[in-house]
Parts: sequence; C-alpha cells; structure tokens
Amino acid sequence: MSHHIPSIGFISLGCPKALVDSEQIITRLRAEGYAIQPDYKSSDVVVINTCAFIDDAVEESMQAISEALNENGKVIVTGCLGAKQGVVEQAFPDLLAVTGPHAADEVMNAIHQHLPPDTDPKLSLIPPGGIKLTPRHYAYLKISEGCNHRCTFCIIPALRGDLVSRPVTEVMDEAEGLISAGVRELLVVSQDTSAYGLDTRYRSDFWRGKPLKTRFLELSQALGELGAWVRLHYVYPYPHVDQVIPLMAEGTILPYLDVPLQHANHDILKAMKRPANAENVLRRIEKWREICPDITLRSTFIVGFPGETEQQFQELLDFLETAQLDRVGAFAYSPVDGAAANALPDHVPEEIKQDRLQRFMAVQENISEQRLARRVGRIEDIIIDSKDEEGYIGRSKSDAPEIDGVVFLDGDFDLKAGDIVRAKITDHNAHDLWAEIQKS
Ligand code: SF4
Repeated sequence: MSHHIPSIGFISLGCPKALVDSEQIITRLRAEGYAIQPDYKSSDVVVINTCAFIDDAVEESMQAISEALNENGKVIVTGCLGAKQGVVEQAFPDLLAVTGPHAADEVMNAIHQHLPPDTDPKLSLIPPGGIKLTPRHYAYLKISEGCNHRCTFCIIPALRGDLVSRPVTEVMDEAEGLISAGVRELLVVSQDTSAYGLDTRYRSDFWRGKPLKTRFLELSQALGELGAWVRLHYVYPYPHVDQVIPLMAEGTILPYLDVPLQHANHDILKAMKRPANAENVLRRIEKWREICPDITLRSTFIVGFPGETEQQFQELLDFLETAQLDRVGAFAYSPVDGAAANALPDHVPEEIKQDRLQRFMAVQENISEQRLARRVGRIEDIIIDSKDEEGYIGRSKSDAPEIDGVVFLDGDFDLKAGDIVRAKITDHNAHDLWAEIQKS
C-alpha cells in the first residue's frame, strides 16, 4: 500500500535574514517528517516567506501568493509582507494563515492545523546543521532580530520591532553545528550586526566553560576561533566597529566589512536619520586600512533621496572618489509604503534619480576595477563554489556569495565545493577575477 508523505511547497523570497527564517521552518518541517517540494502542484500546502522591503519586493511577493493560490489553493503566508496582515488578507481572502516575520511557531501551528504530520518524526533525517537553503559549504548565521534605529527610508523596525539579540551560547552552538555539518564559511547577518547584545546589556554567558559576552567584538572573536571563514554583514558604522579591525588583520575573521553608509552629505544623512559626518567616516576608513591593509570594504548607498540637490549628489560622488571602496551597491530612492521619508518635501523626479544612479555606478565601476587590478599577481585563498566546463568558480576572501564578484579558475583539479585553494590572480574586469590554481 502506498504511503502518503505530507508535503509542503516552500517559496523563500527576500533577504538573507528571511532566508534564515525559511531554513528554521524547513528544518522543523523535515524533523516532523514533512517532505519539501520545489513546486506548487505536487505539494499539499504551500508556504511563502515574503519580502516587503521595497515596492518591487512587495509586487513579487503578491505575485507569488496569487500563483500559489491558483495552482495549489492551500497557502500560508509568512515574512515581512505578512506583517501587514490586513492588506494581505484583503487582497487574498482565501489564505489559510498569515503571519509576520520570524514566526516559525505560528507557521508550524498553521501547518499542523491544515496538514497534520505523519506519525513518528524521523529526527535522524536532519543533518546536524539543520536544513540549509544555501550550498552546504556556506551558511548565514542570524545573530539578532529587529533594529533600534529609525532610518526614515526603512520600515524594518516597524515590521520586525526593536533589536532582540539571540543568546550568545545559542549562536555559538549553531555555528559549531554548521561547521561540523561541513560549512566552511559563516555569513553573520542581522538588521544591525554591530548592535549585537545592546538589548541584553552585553550579558555574560558561559560557552565551552568560559565566560563570553553577548557583544559584537567578543562574538566575532569567538566565531573566528571555530576555524571557518567568518564574514560580517550589515555592520552599522558605530565607532566601536573599529575594535574588530585588528581581528581581521590577525586573520581571526575575514578582512571584509559590509558597512552600509547610504550617503555622504550631512543634510541628507540627517534627513535619513543616519550618522552624519562623512569626514569622520573617511578618517576611520583610512585608519582601518592602516591596521588591516587587505581589508575589503563594501557599502550601499541611496541616490535621489527626497531633497537631494545636484550639489549634494556631487558630494556623494566626491566621497566615493576619496573613499575608494571596493564593492558598492546603490539604489535609486523608492518610497516604501509606511516609511517616514515619504512625507519629506522635494521628491526627486524619476528620470533624475535614474540618471544619478547611472552616474554613480559609472564612477564606482571605475574604482572597483582599479581596486581589483591591484590584486593581479597576488596569491590568494579561494573557496570553491562550483564547477563548469572550463574549470571552477570560487570566491576570494573579498567576495561574499551572491552580492560580490567571483573568481574563475582554469584547470582540471579534483576539487569539491568548500575546498580552499591557493591561486595566483591573473586577470580582472570590474567585478570578477581570473586565477591559476597553485600546485601544492
Ligand atoms: S539600521 Fe537598517 S534596519 Fe535599522 S532602520 Fe536603518 S536601514 Fe532599517
């Protein structure tokens, strides 16, 4: 007699933080014996983890919900868009349940109600690091939820609430579990990584028999000692960030800092409610490079923020030229439903925003290319991500997966994803590098 295994179609949209929520739900589903399906049709129930960061993301989430309802009919919505329960339920009255982000318990309850688990959960089916949606050799490690800032263009605090840090022992246990499951690179994420522990008053805990503070610096050090690559993302530029740079210089964590700066002009930064002193930032960048010359600096910026004049935009371009950042992402400002910045005067017309975005990217592309050119001839560690017909594709310590460039490696070596090789950089363009593997 054939036995029906209850199955869930899982769609995960949005940022790495949402991905971590998805992984936690999927791990629990697998633990209870549910099968996970990649499509709507073969699933009993579909769960959609949505995003609501910008209007395009809302649109994508709404479309996914509509498709799932048409093709399957039994749909549970979670994630940032789900925080606007009324809006979602009004658009889709037939949903089984709607929850906000970071609501694994509520999602599991809704699933139990509409699709009870099979008997006898097979806990042994779960690998020690839980179920990962990223390739097995790297994993996102979420250290906190929410944010205490109130940047005027952002609705994340309204969706996810104030900062809540995970206990440091829980984070360390998860990191250890991931590494023992084969993960070679940990990507530390949160809304505000450098604020870690603030809400707990940097509580001291015990891990491996030693005291360990719930704090950015101590956590970075402890994670670095586990032996995997540790990469810090979304590091708000507080002064205390300077303290982790020596850990990068000595090789405890990767010399990589993803520090969103958003703008350089004082008045725009003030209107954004962000730290408003570009001179200080430039001095700090200089100091970071003195302490750790190999540091890779990534940042994101918004162009065309309400009220931004041509002169203020020019100031941003001048900042880019002086700062010489390695990797930069930029967005044309787009109003997000519910954001305080919507009420600011002098919104910039769309064509000017797009023009500024292109000019911004042209300036940065030049800088990124020059930064990469400096590395030709060097021998660097490269982590292997995948193989294609011509060789391997990997990343250097300067490249975070999915957002930065890659390194193309020629040659027929016997390598697998997660292996780390030494390779000589031979060529570059504005984003990627080419390299030759060094025989050991
Ligand atoms: S620090 Fe980040 S998450 Fe927090 S309000 Fe600002 S942009 Fe949003």
